[in-house]
Amino acid sequence: MVSLWTGLLLGIAKHWIAGEDSEDAFARVEQSNAHGVRGIINLLGEETTSREETAAALAKYLEILGTINTRRIRGCISVKPTQLGLSIDLSLFRYNLSKILDRAKSLGTFVWMDMEGSQFTAGTVDSYLEFHKKFDNIGLAIQAYLKRSEGDVGRILDNGGAIRLCKGAYNESPAIVYKRRNQIDNSFSKLMRVMFERGRGFAIATHDEKLIEQATRLSSVHHADFEFEMLMGIRDKKKLELVQRGYRVSEYVPFGKSWWAYSVRRIREHKSNIFLLARSLLSG
Ligand SMILES: Cc1cc2nc3c(=O)[nH]c(=O)nc-3n(C[C@H](O)[C@H](O)[C@H](O)COP(=O)(O)OP(=O)(O)OC[C@H]3O[C@@H](n4cnc5c(N)ncnc54)[C@H](O)[C@@H]3O)c2cc1C
Repeated sequence: MVSLWTGLLLGIAKHWIAGEDSEDAFARVEQSNAHGVRGIINLLGEETTSREETAAALAKYLEILGTINTRRIRGCISVKPTQLGLSIDLSLFRYNLSKILDRAKSLGTFVWMDMEGSQFTAGTVDSYLEFHKKFDNIGLAIQAYLKRSEGDVGRILDNGGAIRLCKGAYNESPAIVYKRRNQIDNSFSKLMRVMFERGRGFAIATHDEKLIEQATRLSSVHHADFEFEMLMGIRDKKKLELVQRGYRVSEYVPFGKSWWAYSVRRIREHKSNIFLLARSLLSG
């Protein structure tokens, strides 16, 4: 019974994840590359509590970097700090991340750091700024719903860092985040404008039509070096349209066995995904 449920849920999760093996992710990214879309490969897993699991994640990322290089895949990786040990021990996290950044730098590959729940924000931003002093191939996700993000964006831009701006996907307290859609969108617009004025190598990570079109207008004024980033399985036609209009577009492609938490975030942020669930249950 458990495996039937797991199978059904994995079927739904496959709207947003490439599969359970790294080969699934490589195949998806190669397919996207053929259409001019780059890939951002993410090994699923977060809030890891064992050192062994962080070592396994490190080994897998080193292997992924090697394959990106040998297969000439156009793309990079994105890592979650707590998958590399941030929730266990700061020095463990920094050790694992430095190994990944060393290898990525030697292969000419970029590494994004995802931003997780607010209990990890300060540690993640501070670590990013430290690593950025030594590595120029690292960027950080910043969440527009967080009230502190205006300060973080300023600090990162002052230090020449690269930001991936997203709305934010975690369930946080109104004391620290904007909750209303229009407040979040206004914050996104405001931060995006600052990034176009002062940033380089940044990413606009949203599927929101209004914000994407605002970004295209800003880009025609500022001519900044940036890309659009979207998640696998969401607005695939828009990705191709933006490529055809001459923009650089990357697709975030997660894979792995720990797909549950990621899939729940995708279902929660878009109510119609509940219908995917219902349809699978009825037809299953
Ligand atoms: C490349 C990338 C990296 C990200 N990294 C992080 C990160 O590190 N930390 C973090 O907290 N969040 C991250 N996110 C998630 C982000 O914070 C949002 O939760 C998510 O992108 C939905 O917000 P939106 O900007 O698309 O706007 P929304 O207002 O949520 O959606 C706009 C439109 O996009 C479509 N859409 C959006 N989500 C879905 C969905 N799940 N299913 C179907 N259609 C949908 C719908 O048409 C919707 O009307 C990332 C997102 C992207 C694209």
